[in-house]
Amino acid sequence: MKLKCTKSIRNAHNTYLCFMIESQLHQLAQWLETPSKMVIIPHKNPDGDAMGSTLAWQNVMRQLGHTATVLAPNPYPTFLHWMPGHEDVIIYENAQKEGNKLIAEADFIFTLDFNTLNRIDDMGVRVAESKAKKIMIDHHQEPDSYADLMFSEPSIGSTCELVYQIIDGLDKKDCINKEVATCIYTGILTDTGSFRFPSVTSNTHKAVAELMDCGANHSYIHEKIKDTARPDRLKLLGIALQNMVFLNDVNTAYISLSQDELDECNFQKGDAEGFVNYGLSVSGIQIAVLMIEYRNEGVVKLSFRSKGDLAVNTFAKTYFDGGGHINAAGGISKRSLADTESYFIESLRAFFG
Ligand code: 5GP
Ligand code: MN
Repeated sequence: MKLKCTKSIRNAHNTYLCFMIESQLHQLAQWLETPSKMVIIPHKNPDGDAMGSTLAWQNVMRQLGHTATVLAPNPYPTFLHWMPGHEDVIIYENAQKEGNKLIAEADFIFTLDFNTLNRIDDMGVRVAESKAKKIMIDHHQEPDSYADLMFSEPSIGSTCELVYQIIDGLDKKDCINKEVATCIYTGILTDTGSFRFPSVTSNTHKAVAELMDCGANHSYIHEKIKDTARPDRLKLLGIALQNMVFLNDVNTAYISLSQDELDECNFQKGDAEGFVNYGLSVSGIQIAVLMIEYRNEGVVKLSFRSKGDLAVNTFAKTYFDGGGHINAAGGISKRSLADTESYFIESLRAFFG
């Protein structure tokens, strides 16, 4: 089959989002002409955008005649298990031999929604060693240089929106069936805080309108994503809100959750999703933080959210070996929960005070 490039990716002001994009699209289109073996990889602890983008890409690649498999580093939350294509996903943590074979034999490896190989743990080494051509499709800042072809666009609010733009750029919108539309819609929804973050543009809404025309059912998707909680999750939310501390001198609200509190609520992966945002709903609060103790792993995982130009990604990178976007970032601490808390307060006042 012959793929045509007829479109360039432009933003709402009709300027190029990325100057390289047209030649990149031509390169990709050329590679897609021959049926190939493809592995499509989301980051560790995949979220709605990571699974939405990889599953959408898997579906489109299969329609174009390729053998495509989503290989996730580890399991993802059950509230994403309804997504079209979920049944075909291979979890590397549970099938290393099969995963290694797929990576070693692939002609192309697509890495979606991340831009450094350490975001996929042990798989990163295998990917680096593989002779496959590597293609990055991502919207995080400061990409590493492991990819042969990079679609790296930090101004786009989700990898799913970028995937939509690439499909459009390849002139392959006829591949956006109900399943693809549903996957892409899901990632845009989850990575934009339900279309409210500043990264949302008129292009986002135009894309979403087209996705609805292609069969994405917004009420169904919202219900699947938002209304599937167990009572235990709400109990944990209650504890989290009780634990919220306000540091008014730095316009910050933070929550800490201990392993004991998680155990009390039969914690499952994904249960604390969205908790960090509650702090930002308080008038005057500009930074919200959630820290969760994982005692068996000996780590505290931190999530940071902010408003305006307060760069929590730089803060996360400086003090918590992390990174992310300007208004949404994460990091890690190997201190105890109590020590993490005091180190965090000290660092916060030093950086933002
Ligand atoms: P979350 O708080 O939802 O776990 O992560 C928010 C964002 O921060 C993610 O989209 C990701 O970009 C980034 N992030 C989270 N954890 C880490 C981390 O440990 N390292 C880096 N570099 N980025 C992270
Ligand atoms: Mn994303």
